[in-house]
Amino acid sequence: MAKQQMLSFVTVPRDMPEKRAPEVRREDFDEIYAEFADRKAAEQASRCSQCGVPYCQTHCPLHNNIPDWLRLTAEGRLQEAYEVAQLTNTFPEICGRICPQDRLCEGNCVIEQSGHGTVTIGTIEKYITDTAWERGWIKPSKPERELGRSVGIIGAGPGGLAAADMLRRAGANVTVYDRYDRAGGLMTYGIPGFKLEKHVVMRRVEQLEEAGVEFRMNCNVGEDIGFEEIREAHDAVLIATGVYKSRDLQAPGVGAGGIVRAIDYLTASNRHGFGDDVPEFASGELNAEGKKVVVIGGGDTAMDCVRTAIRQGATSVKCLYRRDRTNMPGSQREVANAEEEGVEFVWLSAPKGFAGDVVEGVMVQRMRLGAPDATGRQMPEILEGSDYVEEADLVIKALGFEAEELPTLWGCPELEVTRWGTVKADFRSHQTSLPDVWAVGDIVRGASLVVWAIRDGRDAAASILDQFAEAPAMAAE
Ligand SMILES: Cc1cc2nc3c(=O)[nH]c(=O)nc-3n(C[C@H](O)[C@H](O)[C@H](O)COP(=O)(O)OP(=O)(O)OC[C@H]3O[C@@H](n4cnc5c(N)ncnc54)[C@H](O)[C@@H]3O)c2cc1C
Ligand code: SF4
Repeated sequence: MAKQQMLSFVTVPRDMPEKRAPEVRREDFDEIYAEFADRKAAEQASRCSQCGVPYCQTHCPLHNNIPDWLRLTAEGRLQEAYEVAQLTNTFPEICGRICPQDRLCEGNCVIEQSGHGTVTIGTIEKYITDTAWERGWIKPSKPERELGRSVGIIGAGPGGLAAADMLRRAGANVTVYDRYDRAGGLMTYGIPGFKLEKHVVMRRVEQLEEAGVEFRMNCNVGEDIGFEEIREAHDAVLIATGVYKSRDLQAPGVGAGGIVRAIDYLTASNRHGFGDDVPEFASGELNAEGKKVVVIGGGDTAMDCVRTAIRQGATSVKCLYRRDRTNMPGSQREVANAEEEGVEFVWLSAPKGFAGDVVEGVMVQRMRLGAPDATGRQMPEILEGSDYVEEADLVIKALGFEAEELPTLWGCPELEVTRWGTVKADFRSHQTSLPDVWAVGDIVRGASLVVWAIRDGRDAAASILDQFAEAPAMAAE
């Protein structure tokens, strides 16, 4: 591959890999972006200005060595680029696909701020690691020696899996317990395939199995096995259970048929994609085909629901959000993708109630943005006399998630939680109030991001290994 000169941002414009046309991608659940061609990836990587103090790296939760792997990509030294990328990130190809880069690395790229358009960091990270998979450079994390210590991890999402990878590499015996039948957490059953194809997650799980990580699936901790039993079976325990309690609406008629929770809807769709038998999908209860769909919410989950409904063949898909476009929490990139695919956003609108025993419509009240609250964010206010009915035969509630009450569910009141129910853990070591118990990811942070769960999982694994290293010395005293 031809070697590219760096700092080419003045002459080479920002470019993304080809995006499939909306009318084509609406028909399936495959990812919407093609892969960069080798020459294109090198050219785009060469746009990096190689800052002495790289803000992209500072704002990446994993502090990836972005300028280094961009330079190596531009020079055609792809295997070295992969080696550098995987030093700080357990799943670079996953982050490259689904990080909200506009809020993280790319949003802080200096050439973006000088008006030249950011370096396409995420797509290059994906390209490097997809190439590494194609060329067989990614191997199972088999350890050189066994430590003779065991770790039980509760939850097979990105937090749990990132920790499992590091711990197994270091020689710990790792058992991962999860209540689902497949590993991956929300990467498997929450995030749709058009953002993250499932084989990308499954091949990582297979490699962990090959490395010797034991997965105990269909094992709901608190029901099928006690938390104390897990503590007794292992030298250390990591809680990585995520947040699954859906926030609900208080509005007349909200209990009507046809009003469903986003997590149930997306899980059914993902299971159907795996070829599973999903009765609620087959019956139409969790399937948007032929329906007028209204999604309530303005976050990434709502974006995933509207785009899933389009692909299932809904006759119309509308998204109600009580603030406006600039004040929504979801990614602007995903809103643009949804609009291209045919989703209609009804900004400044909120549900007041629902009509029908089986839902027929949403009573909508229009809003305006009023004075800022304590956080500086403008509060939505009701516009009196502006109500109307939006027809709907499937309503999906995507209002966010909260933590389940683990101390109660697991009969363990000593496990300290915050007033939001998230587990209290030291922010560096991730140790909880219980000895030899760590916690990471959404169950500590509240609903967050895959990249933060990976960061936490890696940090907690390092802390557990530190404790293992100290233990023999303490025993000898
Ligand atoms: C629809 C949706 C879309 C998203 N899109 C993005 C995105 O584009 N980019 C991004 O960065 N983030 C996204 N997120 C957020 C991201 O998925 C989460 O922040 C991340 O998965 C959290 O990782 P985790 O390991 O903490 O938990 P999870 O991924 O939730 O995994 C937790 C695991 O624990 C298991 N578990 C829970 N309780 C028990 C129990 N009692 N016993 C056994 N197992 C248990 C669960 O079955 C699950 O497998 C999205 C979230 C949702 C819901
Ligand atoms: S992990 Fe996410 S934030 Fe960090 S460089 Fe990759 S895409 Fe950017």
